[in-house]
Amino acid sequence: MRFLFFSYLCFLYLAPHAQSRYTTRQLLNGRYKNDSSYIYSLPFVTGKKVFLIQGYETIFSHKGERSLDFKIRKGTTICAARAGVVTAVRQDSDKGGLKPENLADGNYIIILHADSSTAWYWHLKKNGVLVQEGDSVQEGQPIGLSGNTGFSAFPHLHFEVQGRDAAGHYTRLATRFYTQHGVIYLSPYRFYRTRR
Ligand SMILES: [Zn+2]
Repeated sequence: MRFLFFSYLCFLYLAPHAQSRYTTRQLLNGRYKNDSSYIYSLPFVTGKKVFLIQGYETIFSHKGERSLDFKIRKGTTICAARAGVVTAVRQDSDKGGLKPENLADGNYIIILHADSSTAWYWHLKKNGVLVQEGDSVQEGQPIGLSGNTGFSAFPHLHFEVQGRDAAGHYTRLATRFYTQHGVIYLSPYRFYRTRR
């Protein structure tokens, strides 16, 4: 009984971000059976179709990085991919480009989730933040408007989730999403439709 209880505690600690034990390729190929990680919704209004131009660890600017770039028109409504509390926002920049100094020019929203992971929404347009620090947001709630600020060559949304991996290190995590193809980890260069 004591062993069972201990196993349960381990499960609670490890299960949320156990996807970090798998390579991106293994996740995309469905090699993680019994995946119990949180299922996010795509950060757009329900039914919206979007093109994923960079996926996890793609070479252009996500080398070694588990983050996603959705190519969308400037001004597209961004919605919370998961409920949480807004911990930081910036919306005063109107600069963007691929120069090193542009790294400091991005507008963003950071949302803290119940399991202490955080979602980062980047490159929002100037004055394109619809929430404030301290706000509680529901999944699917509009939170911002996309743009091209920061280290960015064209209008897009950079989305990433940070949290502790199975070894306890703080890192970027691959996450599952509801899509028209079911619940999956996203592959680059494909269209996905927002489902909730
Ligand atoms: Zn990116």
